[in-house]
Amino acid sequence: MARTTAWKSGRTTPPVRMDADVIIIGTGAGGGTLARALSGSGLKLLLLERGNFLRRTKSNWEPDAVFRRHLYHTREPWLDRNGAPFHPVTGYHVGGNTKLFGAAVLRRRECDFGALHHRDGETVSWPIRYPDLASFYDRAESWYFAHGQRGEDPTEPPASGPFPYPPVSHEPAIEAVFRRLQDCGLRPFHLPLAIHLDEMHSATSPCIRCDTCDGFPCLVLAKGDAENCAIRPALADPDVVLKTGIRITRLRSSDDGRRIVAVEGEGERGPESFSARVVVLAAGAVNSAALLLASGNLAHPRGLANSSDQVGRNYMCHLNSVMLALSPWHSRSIVFQKTIGVNDYYHESGDPQFPYPLGHVQLLGKVTGAVLKAERPALPSFLARWFGRHSVDWWLTTEDLARADNRVTLTAAGQIRLSYTPNNVEAHARLLAAWRAVLRRIGFRFIFSQRIGIEGVAHQVGTARFGTDPSQSVLDPYCRAHEVDNLFVVDGSFMPSIAAVNPSLTIMAQALRVADHLKARLAAGDWHG
Ligand SMILES: Cc1cc2nc3c(=O)[nH]c(=O)nc-3n(C[C@H](O)[C@H](O)[C@H](O)COP(=O)(O)OP(=O)(O)OC[C@H]3O[C@@H](n4cnc5c(N)ncnc54)[C@H](O)[C@@H]3O)c2cc1C
Ligand code: SF4
Repeated sequence: MARTTAWKSGRTTPPVRMDADVIIIGTGAGGGTLARALSGSGLKLLLLERGNFLRRTKSNWEPDAVFRRHLYHTREPWLDRNGAPFHPVTGYHVGGNTKLFGAAVLRRRECDFGALHHRDGETVSWPIRYPDLASFYDRAESWYFAHGQRGEDPTEPPASGPFPYPPVSHEPAIEAVFRRLQDCGLRPFHLPLAIHLDEMHSATSPCIRCDTCDGFPCLVLAKGDAENCAIRPALADPDVVLKTGIRITRLRSSDDGRRIVAVEGEGERGPESFSARVVVLAAGAVNSAALLLASGNLAHPRGLANSSDQVGRNYMCHLNSVMLALSPWHSRSIVFQKTIGVNDYYHESGDPQFPYPLGHVQLLGKVTGAVLKAERPALPSFLARWFGRHSVDWWLTTEDLARADNRVTLTAAGQIRLSYTPNNVEAHARLLAAWRAVLRRIGFRFIFSQRIGIEGVAHQVGTARFGTDPSQSVLDPYCRAHEVDNLFVVDGSFMPSIAAVNPSLTIMAQALRVADHLKARLAAGDWHG
């Protein structure tokens, strides 16, 4: 009663109705995995998702719908550093961007957790080391149907056992590429993939090994995405409630700024507000930073949990390029292409004049004539088809470094501005040159490459990094905001460095680590006051 009276007089925070023990905002790699990990524990969970279940239609597998009409990408414009609008290649669905991902699921290398010397500087050391995540990587691989072959990748970190599923086989044309790479002295490996494929029993295998996987939603729900592998299993628990179509717009804190007391959003029926003992933000690195910045108040004048001024900064997304290698004399019928990875340039270039890492190479989903035509409508159809029949297609990533000036901010009207200037570009140029030379050696005559621009936000991370020093980081090593007791962030935002491998398995593994921590603390009575 005394508390209520004080609140009426404006001196303290109103008593709050609890909708759940834990609210999770966003259902992608981080939020979805956390939801499944907390389900079945007796905790009441409320999942708030801006998108809806991605509708299954034949458009899921139509290149034109995906790459030209952008049916599954948001159409909201973001602004670049100069205020020019662009459309980010990102989607809002139950399952987040894993609905569209290429399903390459790699662990970070052991060295990626420490400070690494690159051409353009040093990466930020993590507050945890590989062994802290190892068992969670095991669990994430098993939940997400990871197929792979240990012992082939010369840079792979130790694991407790084999992959839960066997490696995805190479098609004959890709097997030939694999062998020729080996003949050059390289150590290609079967790319770890999160697809529900059973090659021994193809008649009943959920995955049919199609040519519309990387970048496409899976029409037959066989991708190891967060909807299939996390949200649907979590919803088997009656204590888990999912509300879709609700865009969270603000987190409201107590007057002293130490607790989140309300999660506010816009649903189809207008404004809605929710509360829970613990609030977990998992809206993706750009949207989570935007939400924290939009939630500033008297206690948090620079944005929620942002005394350090680190929220939104240190955005990373990799330097990414696509490379098409053509061999006009060979017509190839390749369907599911994405089965080779190469890490021979991961630790160093091999050139004593450039003693720095270059990055990671993997095959891309097949760039068919229809994909090319959708991405380049001006290209004559016959040429697009010819390219599609004769190419083998690669995806090259180089680590970009955290920079304070590469950041998410909001305009006065609340629009997202993404300021990003790539760094470490010489390393990426060298990776492209090295790979071009390899492809020529193994018989490809014509090689085309294209750098991905600012709209390529697929691998977004870093905007609320974790650490032990509250003046340099936003989150503690369990992803709790240093300044807000009941606020966690478990999407790609937490990463202080991106490494050169794809990020999602690490986001999933860290979400599992945070889940164990949360369960223990909630069981011990924390946040029950
Ligand atoms: C085309 C493509 C290919 C990719 N390929 C790979 C790959 O092969 N391997 C790999 O490791 N990674 C890949 N990625 C990246 C991978 O998908 C992401 O790293 C991963 O999904 C990020 O997880 P997250 O939890 O940070 O965010 P997301 O998975 O994006 O989840 C964020 C969730 O929050 C929701 N949300 C956002 N804002 C709000 C709000 N205001 N209110 C409520 N909900 C909100 C979103 O709708 C979404 O569901 C790819 C991505 C794309 C787009
Ligand atoms: S390859 Fe398998 S998982 Fe990927 S879209 Fe096709 S059926 Fe789905």
